[in-house]
Amino acid sequence: MVRQKMLRHPVPGNLGKLLKNQRVIDVTRRAKYVLIQLDDGHLIIHLGMTGNLRVINKPPAPQKHDHIDICFEDNMVLRYTDPRRFGCVLHTKRDPNLHKLLKSLGPEPLSEDFTPERLHQLSRKRKVAVKNFIMNGAVVVGVGNIYASESLFRAGILPHKQAGRVSLQKYTALHGHIKAVLREAIKAGGTTLRDYTNADGFAGYFSQELDAYGRKGEPCNRCDGVIKMKVIGQRSSFYCTGCQR
Ligand code: ZN
Repeated sequence: MVRQKMLRHPVPGNLGKLLKNQRVIDVTRRAKYVLIQLDDGHLIIHLGMTGNLRVINKPPAPQKHDHIDICFEDNMVLRYTDPRRFGCVLHTKRDPNLHKLLKSLGPEPLSEDFTPERLHQLSRKRKVAVKNFIMNGAVVVGVGNIYASESLFRAGILPHKQAGRVSLQKYTALHGHIKAVLREAIKAGGTTLRDYTNADGFAGYFSQELDAYGRKGEPCNRCDGVIKMKVIGQRSSFYCTGCQR
């Protein structure tokens, strides 16, 4: 049942028909998209900034932001909730990786397709800040603002340095730190925060491990310097001029 079809991309008008009598075969993820494989076709779901998907047995009456209910035969409901309506629920009969929203995405950061050579090659002659470069989903997916700041700090690279001026050796270090930072963050249960509204208002388990992000004015953990903050590409970026160059 679709109660609100005007999400970031409109929900297909025939979604009910497309899902009728379909079984869920597999559930995977690509970048921020949840992919649900059905007998015939795939659902491509994005949760926007604040959306969620819940499996509920005999669900209560839908609330204002509960836009879609996908009903299973045993009273179970997969409920899509998205207060800001920045997400999407789409259907494709083709390989979802060929869908226009997914086909230009770079590799997953923890996969073998993500290599230092890729970072080095794609960055040649690029004047964009290296931090924006590694946050570009066409280069590599999944490196958000916090993880970019932390990885660059560990690799000793200033976030505003031009991507094209970073050496292969430095990209090799950065590549390793991106993977390590992401693995640590996943292990710690992620970093709960709201950096899209307020760069200073954050909490969460991985946040206790942060060396740079959110520490403006605080002493550097590695040298006698102080952590600085600069807005790069509209995102707060934290760094130490003693440790990064
Ligand atoms: Zn330092």
